Amino acid sequence: MANIRVIENECVGCEACVDACPFGVVSMSNGIAVIGEGCNMCSACVDACPAGAIVMEKTEQPVQEREEEASGVWVFAEQRGGKIAGVVHELLGEGKKLAQALGQPLAAVLLGSDVSSRVPELAASGADIVYVADHPSLAMFSDDPYADVFARLIREEKPDIVLFGATSTGRSLAPRIAARLKTGLTADCTGLSIDPESRLLLQTRPAFGGNIMATIRCRYRKPQMATVRPKVMKRATPDTSRVAAVRQVWVDVDALRMRVKIDEFIEEAGEVVNLEDADIIVSGGRGLGDPKHFSLIEELARTLGGAVGASRAAVDAGWIPYSHQVGQTGKTVCPKVYIAVGISGAIQHLAGMQSSDIIVAINKNPDAPIFQVATYGIVGDLFQVVPKLTEEFRRAMAE
Ligand SMILES: Cc1cc2nc3c(=O)[nH]c(=O)nc-3n(C[C@H](O)[C@H](O)[C@H](O)COP(=O)(O)OP(=O)(O)OC[C@H]3O[C@@H](n4cnc5c(N)ncnc54)[C@H](O)[C@@H]3O)c2cc1C
Repeated sequence: MANIRVIENECVGCEACVDACPFGVVSMSNGIAVIGEGCNMCSACVDACPAGAIVMEKTEQPVQEREEEASGVWVFAEQRGGKIAGVVHELLGEGKKLAQALGQPLAAVLLGSDVSSRVPELAASGADIVYVADHPSLAMFSDDPYADVFARLIREEKPDIVLFGATSTGRSLAPRIAARLKTGLTADCTGLSIDPESRLLLQTRPAFGGNIMATIRCRYRKPQMATVRPKVMKRATPDTSRVAAVRQVWVDVDALRMRVKIDEFIEEAGEVVNLEDADIIVSGGRGLGDPKHFSLIEELARTLGGAVGASRAAVDAGWIPYSHQVGQTGKTVCPKVYIAVGISGAIQHLAGMQSSDIIVAINKNPDAPIFQVATYGIVGDLFQVVPKLTEEFRRAMAE
């Protein structure tokens, strides 16, 4: 833990710290600086103080002390219009393993209006407990009320770990809750496990542009919070015989902050590339050489009933819209078959597709890194290979 302290007899009363504090929590009292409530330890005041009168002190808090209180692995059961997001089932599958390693229960936290009917689905995916906050004011996702209800529940129940899907909803909600609870949050994890010695959550995610995988621990605060992208974890087979204990969460409407009023929800119009749900994806990269050659990819994808993906190089070149991009800064996909055409297999691309069941790589360079993750590799010129493959598949499908 860290603490910021003012050494009173060294404070010169210059007020530099008051001006420097981005959160406005430093004030003066009798000519001496005072650090108030809401300090987030950014240390701007420490840097600004010309007299060295403000110091940051680090104190180690033994992990054991906090562990006695915190228990439970929680998953945010994100839903829209009553439909549970796919990533929730993936997180429950992963959460079950974490809960078993810790000997703790697995819980889903369901917020919404008229959503109680979703409980059996969450139980089937592994939840032992489902916390249900069912209220009309939670009908549509909004940061403030959702964060208020969720953060209060965490304060009351003290879970050990809380997981969110790295969807636009999860990415908006999780940091707000983490900030309210003054705990850490690791975004976009690709691996989660429990350290057998410290019993802390090991949160693995790409760092430095995907060039290394960093494993992060939240040592001093609970709950340990993480977001995980859809399709990174495998969904467990549902067991419909499972039953979860339901805990109704009281929603104190008067205490909810409602700074945003949602008038209506409008579905995005236009082409929607549902890469994340596709069973077969054919992706094209810079090896295509020209945007018009994406027609080869589209034809193969259409023949197989699949979707079209792309590397960032192809997207950056303006050959295809960003919604098709697969990889660290695009979509994470996990289809049954992923066909990479003219894609070298940079680590940032692999980060978005390497958990696909079958990977087929077509590349003229036998040393291309994509072959290291490929189930089947075809070394050859894509302009010869792809039309032949399309033709063969078309014939086979017709038969
Ligand atoms: C922070 C960061 C985030 C990134 N995020 C992403 C991301 O989300 N997704 C992503 O894809 N990339 C991402 N990148 C970029 C990534 O590093 C690579 O630059 C990119 O993936 C390369 O795309 P490519 O494989 O299509 O092109 P290249 O690396 O140029 O590969 C082209 C391949 O085509 C082959 N080829 C050429 N002609 C033919 C032919 N006629 N027949 C067969 N094969 C042929 C070549 O042998 C080569 O292997 C990111 C990079 C950074 C730094």
